[in-house]
Amino acid sequence: MTRQLGLVYDPRFLEHDQPFHPENAQRLKAIIGGLEEAGIWDKTVNIKTTPIAEGFLFRIHKPHYVDSIRKFAGSGGGMLDINTYLNSQSYQVALLAAGGAVQAAEAVLSGKVEQAFALVRPPGHHAHPSRAGGFCLFNNIALAAEHAIHNLGLERVLVVDFDVHHGDGTQAIFYSRKDVLYFSTHQYPLFPGTGHWKEIGEGPGEGFTINVPLPAGLGYEAYPRVFAEILFPAANRYRPELILVSAGYDAHWRDPLAGMRLSTKGFARLTRMLLDLAEEHCSGKMVLVLEGGYDLPALSASVAATCAVILGEDPQDSLGQSAETPYPLDDLLSKIKEIHRLA
Ligand SMILES: [Zn+2]
Repeated sequence: MTRQLGLVYDPRFLEHDQPFHPENAQRLKAIIGGLEEAGIWDKTVNIKTTPIAEGFLFRIHKPHYVDSIRKFAGSGGGMLDINTYLNSQSYQVALLAAGGAVQAAEAVLSGKVEQAFALVRPPGHHAHPSRAGGFCLFNNIALAAEHAIHNLGLERVLVVDFDVHHGDGTQAIFYSRKDVLYFSTHQYPLFPGTGHWKEIGEGPGEGFTINVPLPAGLGYEAYPRVFAEILFPAANRYRPELILVSAGYDAHWRDPLAGMRLSTKGFARLTRMLLDLAEEHCSGKMVLVLEGGYDLPALSASVAATCAVILGEDPQDSLGQSAETPYPLDDLLSKIKEIHRLA
């Protein structure tokens, strides 16, 4: 089946850059180059990107924090913390990245396209209401979810975060809300340190945060099993009206910042499963938002494979697999099923 895939990309995303930092502009150049080379770029629909309105940004981020980012960039930038940089353009680029995620959700929910991929930088899932972190300034995916809920009237949005790091910002933003079900797989322990399976949300949000912390070394066998045994039953119970995906590709076996063993084919398989889930619950409505991924060949091949699967084509994988470390998942998965009362 051929689908309409919308892509958000704007060359201004390259202006937030610090050469030799892992989260640099070469990442997006590699992705776009890979999509062109695979013949995918021309089969997609371009979604025009405009900066997010500051007023809407304040629904997720505190005004004093937004102000501090604007001023810090205005003074030329520098390091905000040991991981996160700003240059003079970063505030404007971050507004544009957040706008891109929102407009991708808008394009899918208005029926312009069935799926969309927001190829944005800087990434977002470590950004909290009032602090940056882990290369992230504004939480792009949280703003897309908030747009779907507050502006378009949705009541249940599922966020699936397969970036190798826990999306601590996204979790914090929605921790006491039930209109967003946050599901994350991540290497654990690893930066940022959060994402224990006992973190399940609080108050009205209790049960609407699902964390699957995984030891390093897992890949093609483990991830689909986690999706099948935890994500699928949770989604069946939640009945999402939209699926947003924090698509980070740093769980690839080649990634320099982590130790997971997913292959390009593994990401293609996860994409297939997420599409199935979206088709079952919400007429295929799915929006991916780029997060991490720091090995350029792996990142570019995996994004291309993701898009190929959505377009109904065979994903290519010239990088191959790396053996995963056998690990008995039964105990962890049964604890998660028990705490979330999943059959
Ligand atoms: Zn990451």
